[in-house]
Amino acid sequence: NSLFESVELAPRDPILGLNEQFNADTRAGKVNLGVGVYYDDEGRIPLLKAVHKAEVARVEAAAPRGYLPIEGISAYNKGAQRLLLGAGNPLLESGRVLTAQSLGGTGALKIGADFLKWLKPDANVVISNPSWENHRALFERAGFTVETYPYYDAATHGLDFNGMTAALNALPEGTIVILHACCHNPTGVDPTFDQWKEIARIIKQRDLVPFLDIAYQGFGEGIEEDAAVVRYFADQDITMLVSSSFSKSFSLYGERVGALTLICSSSEEGERVLSQLKRVIRTNYSNPPTHGGTIVSMVLNTPELYDLWATELAGMRERIRSMRQQLVEKLKAEGVNKDFSFVLEQRGMFSYSGLTKEQVDRLREEHGVYAVSSGRICVAALNSRNIDYVAKAIASVLA
Ligand code: PMP
Repeated sequence: NSLFESVELAPRDPILGLNEQFNADTRAGKVNLGVGVYYDDEGRIPLLKAVHKAEVARVEAAAPRGYLPIEGISAYNKGAQRLLLGAGNPLLESGRVLTAQSLGGTGALKIGADFLKWLKPDANVVISNPSWENHRALFERAGFTVETYPYYDAATHGLDFNGMTAALNALPEGTIVILHACCHNPTGVDPTFDQWKEIARIIKQRDLVPFLDIAYQGFGEGIEEDAAVVRYFADQDITMLVSSSFSKSFSLYGERVGALTLICSSSEEGERVLSQLKRVIRTNYSNPPTHGGTIVSMVLNTPELYDLWATELAGMRERIRSMRQQLVEKLKAEGVNKDFSFVLEQRGMFSYSGLTKEQVDRLREEHGVYAVSSGRICVAALNSRNIDYVAKAIASVLA
């Protein structure tokens, strides 16, 4: 009798399944828009120059690889805080902000979820409808009941702000609200700054617990602009959790670079909170890995490397913008009647294209263009060589 006899096959991850199908496709012109990764115009995952320089210096230093502290590299954590709050923000010196280096944004969400389950065992979690699929899974795994709040309005391809605020207004006190700080995955639709202000007002008034997820800082309007909601909430003295991912912004997906930041109401409270967060980390993976964290820390703390990185990140952001622009123009040129200008309003790597599941199936079957069945396309996978083909393919399934 096997111990594992009763184990059932888990459902396949829909996006990874799509990648497997793509890899098995033998057509030469195939294009994978189902991914969640930034590719450069040559269709490659870039190794940023700033990252490479830091790595060369790191190798030359021939530094030992002992264990890091439970909460990771101090200079890394300070760098992550500066990205969130802005250099010179007095909060940085207040002792109210504490950060732990994490295994990607996912790791930050996971230790945040475990910490919250310990702190607020009876609270429920709400996520946007739709959201990054792993939000639900992560918080359910941590023991929470997860519900959704309205977010995307298919009719306008924009935000269902009234639906969202009505739902937030009706939540029980203490409910944990997961919010995408910028570049919403999967829709590309973000609240405006004024809308964030209203969301902050409701969160304060209803005593909700915000957990801001920022996985695409620098891919929307800019490094500083994309953190506006974090800074505004902090200015409003809202206590909160923030998960940062540097996977995309440093193009270091496999190095697992992220951070969990908690903003507390006093430094004395911060000290207590950090001591408990460290227990959560200790019982998950003890302490984070050295390499990726060291590289990001070097870039964030060396002015010359920081400037180079900021320029490279701007290059990625602008290339995505240009792909959005060109896609809209080329669809028009192909004779598509439907107005796709909403694609220009969306931010970050993704766009909810408005294509139906049937149209996505036809794109894949007839043209070898792969997208997620929800209609989500990764704009960052478009490039000057595949965009004409993709525009023609979309036009043909819309005809
Ligand atoms: N949050 C969101 C909204 C994401 O899209 C992603 C990555 N796709 C993550 C978190 C996790 O990032 P990481 O790969 O750094 O774990």
